[in-house]
Amino acid sequence: MSAGEQNHIIALRIHIQGLVQGVGFRPFVYRLARQYNLQGWVVNRTDGVTLKVEGLAHNMPMFMEDLRYQAPVVSQIEEIIVEQDFPEGISGFQILASQDMTDETSEISPDIAVCPECLDDMKHQPHRTGYPFINCTNCGPRFSIISDFPYDRKNTTMAHFSMCQVCTKEFLDIADRRFHAQPVACNDCGPSYSMYLKNSVLTGFSGILERISNLIRLGNIVAIKGTGGFHLMCDALNEMAVSRLRQMKKREGKPFAVMFRDLDSLKHYAEVTEVEEAALTSWRRPIVILKTIRPLSPGIALGLNTLGAFLPYMPIHYLIFEKLDLPAFVLTSGNLAEEPVIIGNQEALDTLAPLTDATVTYNRDIYNRNDDSVVRIIAGRERLYRRSRGYVPAPVRCGFEVDGILATGAELSNCFCLGKGDRAYLSQHIGDLRNFETFEFFEETLDRFKKIFRINPHTVASDLHPDYLSSRYARQLGLQLIEVQHHHAHIAACMAENGLDEPVIGLAFDGTGYGTDGHIWGSEFLVCDYLNFSRQGHFSYMPMPGGDKASEEPWRMGLSCLYQIFGSEVLNLKLPFIKLVDRTKAEMVLTALEREINCPLTSGAGRLFDAVAAITGICVNSLFHAEAPMRLEALIHSGIEGHYDFEISETLSFIPAIRQICKEASSGVEPGVVAARFHNTIAEASLQMVKKISTETGLTKVVLSGGTFQNKYLSEILENKLVKDNFAVFTHAAVPCNDGGIALGQLAIAARRKGEI
Ligand code: ZN
Ligand code: ZN
Ligand code: FE
Repeated sequence: MSAGEQNHIIALRIHIQGLVQGVGFRPFVYRLARQYNLQGWVVNRTDGVTLKVEGLAHNMPMFMEDLRYQAPVVSQIEEIIVEQDFPEGISGFQILASQDMTDETSEISPDIAVCPECLDDMKHQPHRTGYPFINCTNCGPRFSIISDFPYDRKNTTMAHFSMCQVCTKEFLDIADRRFHAQPVACNDCGPSYSMYLKNSVLTGFSGILERISNLIRLGNIVAIKGTGGFHLMCDALNEMAVSRLRQMKKREGKPFAVMFRDLDSLKHYAEVTEVEEAALTSWRRPIVILKTIRPLSPGIALGLNTLGAFLPYMPIHYLIFEKLDLPAFVLTSGNLAEEPVIIGNQEALDTLAPLTDATVTYNRDIYNRNDDSVVRIIAGRERLYRRSRGYVPAPVRCGFEVDGILATGAELSNCFCLGKGDRAYLSQHIGDLRNFETFEFFEETLDRFKKIFRINPHTVASDLHPDYLSSRYARQLGLQLIEVQHHHAHIAACMAENGLDEPVIGLAFDGTGYGTDGHIWGSEFLVCDYLNFSRQGHFSYMPMPGGDKASEEPWRMGLSCLYQIFGSEVLNLKLPFIKLVDRTKAEMVLTALEREINCPLTSGAGRLFDAVAAITGICVNSLFHAEAPMRLEALIHSGIEGHYDFEISETLSFIPAIRQICKEASSGVEPGVVAARFHNTIAEASLQMVKKISTETGLTKVVLSGGTFQNKYLSEILENKLVKDNFAVFTHAAVPCNDGGIALGQLAIAARRKGEI
């Protein structure tokens, strides 16, 4: 290009797709255009951000480069489409009113933790001194307050707050950090907190803050409205308060999440690696499962060696810590038992207020319920256990068309998934659909996703299990129905997340899934692609005495396992476990096993873990889902090599291992050593099975999915072994490996099968 050509005026029309709305993208474009002396406009459309720029040709390459690489931290550009346009002699640069393109949608930002600049403004800006709803273009609530697209204040629950003059000025001032920040607000015009005590209501914020701190200091429980739902809060070092909270939530053993003042305080109680620190401090602010160094109140994790910890993400969290000289408070979801977290002020006052010492609400609605997300770092990578606040509703790009498909997911830990183009929109964590309120939450959220993302499904995918409420729901929609086997869906979810589209060896380990042979599956070695799967191996079947009851009562699986070896002699064994079981119940179970009454067969890995947890006396009765495997993992002594025996044929039998475990358990070998060797056995046996399948098929890509892989020890040793043997290993990261990820797999499989039908 000659100098003359470089200096002439050209015009470009640029369309950007990805997460570019609600993350300060338009102000960023505005400033950038000004910096390069370009004229034109930028507009939010439902399908992204479009801009037109006119200016000197030689400014354009740098502008384009900065547009891509200097964009706001939270934004995620997926695609930039550039077209030549005609210069119109536009003067100045403008942000135009949003256009509704009705059908196409762009992305909605997840909620973003308050940024350091805003925390600073909270100290200095006269109209926002101590203002607990401070936010800017780079931080604040997003998904939780959005009711429609595009992301404009009128489509959020901020709609009925009218901006004061000062805020309006900032909103319109390009030089301001709050230029076009949709939820902009201040002490004079924005939302405010109220506090409901037994006989009075407080409204001044400084008084409320003082009162919260005093109540927590004195060991009380406070219900407090968060970003995506209510929380229950108490002093994490106060044993009485924690155990009262436990009773109140009717949650006997599930660990509570703990919010720490800062990293230093947290590091006193838990090990924090570099990757864990990055997760803890990211703008997503998830709960991170860490290894405990010293316990807080024993009631928090009830003997587990891990702690779900997170750092402050709302201004009020920081402000409470400023008032309160404590390292941490429990901050657990504000719900009772398995119900969805409460989001409505009135519901909180009806349900939580009678049980707590105070209830703190604010007068901006939460539109989309959005629990705290939970992650764990396994083999140096972040893995999501619960995907909600900070992650939803970002889509997964499948790389192939999934348009117009709804996948209704599993029944427990439900998430659904909707396809648009090649994007899969996974819902936030919904929960256990067998709970009436949770099912309502499922239906309501599905309607909202359809509306916000403009998706009208023509095909529905569901689990093969005929009785899952998600399957029943799918059947009555009257759409083309595609039923997907549970473990095939697990593997397909992990394939989709990793962009794999070829036959793989898939290991799907979990508790329960409906098999095609009428038995309950859950330790499946599949050879599959999206279209088909074949079951190449699994753990040997075991009877599950009492059916579903066996997944809640590990001792049943313990007896079932021992019965296979010792027959009716089981109760005469000199195992500590036998003394821990209720004799009458045990006799009934043995009779059931003998006569094969209500003893469905299972290959569920979770059930084998239950059996071993029971036989070793580590967890005979469980109080919450997956407690037995969690306790087994928690006890593991590090550095224990070696494994027990197993038999490999079409299936993997662990009967030889169980024999050895019985011997060791009765001769006083430490449970932590047994637990380690048992895990090593599962890993070694799985490796051998993979090698066998690989020899038969020539496949070398191994995909791991299913809730059992939430087990950090097992995942790390198995991944390690596979990699050492030159297998390419694929695991979940952004999508849960548990049933919360199932819907993505259903969606991907349905997309492929649809074309075949
Ligand atoms: Zn901010
Ligand atoms: Zn204001
Ligand atoms: Fe599962």
